Amino acid sequence: MNKIAILCSGGDVSGMNPAIKHFVEYCLQNRAKPYFVFDGYEGLIDDNIVKAHYSDVAGIINRGGTKIGSARSKRFMKSKYRAIAKKNLEKRGIDKLIVLGGDGSFRGIEKFHKETGISFAGVPSTIDNDITGTDYCLGVDTALGVINDALDSIRDTASSFKRAFVIEVMGRDCGFLALVSALTSGAEMCLIPEKSYDLDKFEIEFKKQKKDGRRYFIAVVSEGIKQSSQEISDWFEKKIGVESRVTTLGHIQRGGNPTTRDRLMAYKFITKAIDGLLAGKEDSIICYNQNEFNYKSIDEITNKTYKLDSELLRLAHNIL
Ligand code: ADP
Repeated sequence: MNKIAILCSGGDVSGMNPAIKHFVEYCLQNRAKPYFVFDGYEGLIDDNIVKAHYSDVAGIINRGGTKIGSARSKRFMKSKYRAIAKKNLEKRGIDKLIVLGGDGSFRGIEKFHKETGISFAGVPSTIDNDITGTDYCLGVDTALGVINDALDSIRDTASSFKRAFVIEVMGRDCGFLALVSALTSGAEMCLIPEKSYDLDKFEIEFKKQKKDGRRYFIAVVSEGIKQSSQEISDWFEKKIGVESRVTTLGHIQRGGNPTTRDRLMAYKFITKAIDGLLAGKEDSIICYNQNEFNYKSIDEITNKTYKLDSELLRLAHNIL
């Protein structure tokens, strides 16, 4: 009988719980035995691996985070600990793994696969949406919803007080979250690491808008730009002459009930992952491109730099 384990590695995202629920149900429908590994690669090393049942996944579809925990693991970088992880899986007869994580987690599991022969399927899960080779990563839609709710609330205050608000959003070196949330919340300015910006250009434009009656400004700033959000806020005070405040959204961006899209995407990613493993695929990352799911090799996804969609950049050109 096929035995498949699932684990979450790296940062958690909303959508992992629906993925875990569907994992258990779809395994059982396909006469495979599902297992949970708690706390990522740490759980593989510490033998924190248990059989999963339908009852374990009741009531989790609407919850953010992950029921089985997630972790980063320095030990998994070392071959002696990966050897322990191998024994823990082998003693249970588990030879297939699903990893929900980012490209770091995939690099780790690829190494493990080469050493042990244990098959894996990776499901891209990061709110940063910065994995090359897939247009969508689990958790992005929920994160965008949380950011847009925050931006809508801040806009209410900004308009009442005639202020500028500089809102810092996550994304590491990728400006995707900033770009999409700025665009869809009507921000006046969006600063992202992928594109150099000219504050003098904004100064001319914003001074003109202020003269014409604009009461407030919303600037969405990606955490990966070279200047700090405070510096941008100081610029608003000095150059535009408006009171300014910084809001760093931080970890609220990871939480929240998974959106309908993330629940559906979780189901589709997991179905493709299990189908692939049961068909004998040994080392694939499940990617979503132009409304289709594909199996890609690790080299297809990690050796390139993620590029923002040029259509999005075009749409946002006047706020960049
Ligand atoms: P993400 O998956 O979100 O990119 P990380 O880059 O932090 O997150 O990687 C998550 C975990 O994957 C690390 O803590 C480590 O256990 C494992 N990992 C990453 N790179 C390697 C590697 N080259 N060899 C072995 N394990 C790795």
